[in-house]
Amino acid sequence: MNPDATLLRVLNVSARYGSIPVLRRVSFHVRTGEIVALIGANGAGKSTLLKVVSGMHPATDGEVLFAGEAIQGGAPERIVRKGLVQVPEARQLFPSLTVMENLELGGYVHGRRYVREHTEQWFELFPALAARRRQRAGTLSGGEQQMLSLARALMAKPKLLVLDEPSLGLAPLIVAEIYRNLAALRQQGLTILLVEQNALGALQLADRGYALEAGRVLLAGSAAELLQHDDIRRAYLGKDYRHKWEK
Ligand code: ATP
Repeated sequence: MNPDATLLRVLNVSARYGSIPVLRRVSFHVRTGEIVALIGANGAGKSTLLKVVSGMHPATDGEVLFAGEAIQGGAPERIVRKGLVQVPEARQLFPSLTVMENLELGGYVHGRRYVREHTEQWFELFPALAARRRQRAGTLSGGEQQMLSLARALMAKPKLLVLDEPSLGLAPLIVAEIYRNLAALRQQGLTILLVEQNALGALQLADRGYALEAGRVLLAGSAAELLQHDDIRRAYLGKDYRHKWEK
């Protein structure tokens, strides 16, 4: 695959819940090998945008192109098979199944043999899960559950891994570990689209970012540009960050 190729292109996408518009002509793109962050306050429409991309919520207008092919309106399972795989917000594991069983389910679309041959590989990236492979997912800590959710998505062989708020509710040390895992996956060639309210963490990890407000793209740029942008610093990065930055 051409490393400069655009893997995901979202063009003028609008969406609504009933009669209420939530996304208004949103456009953005993700190139192969990049980490792109979508940031924005609670309710800006970030999760809805990911749901539209993954086929879980219909767009009322616009286009979603994945590897050059229009995918909007496609069934979520077909979109997963094409390699666009989402780690959902709040993890959505099967709590009464074991770590191993949850992982196996992530790869089932590719058949039993694939599952047998690929499960162990993700235990290397997440050693905490390896020690708990027979433990029920519901008994894991929040950080371990997030790692399992990530590993389960990786079992589906993503070309583009899409994450909704991977740092939600986790302690800073665990968030740092998850971000290190994502950086390692990027090193291995994976392309990542990340939604975060944790704008600072997401922009420190990402190559580029988009800030969403009230269903629109307000700003777009390299992560470094956004980290220095006055509006972003004021709106999302908080007083402490400004202080540190200006020292
Ligand atoms: P959060 O970080 O809280 O998830 P977000 O930026 O991801 O915020 P969305 O979850 O996409 O935002 O929500 C955008 C708007 O759509 C909000 O006003 C929200 O209340 C509304 N909304 C989200 N889901 C639904 C739904 N199932 N039915 C009706 N309205 C919804």
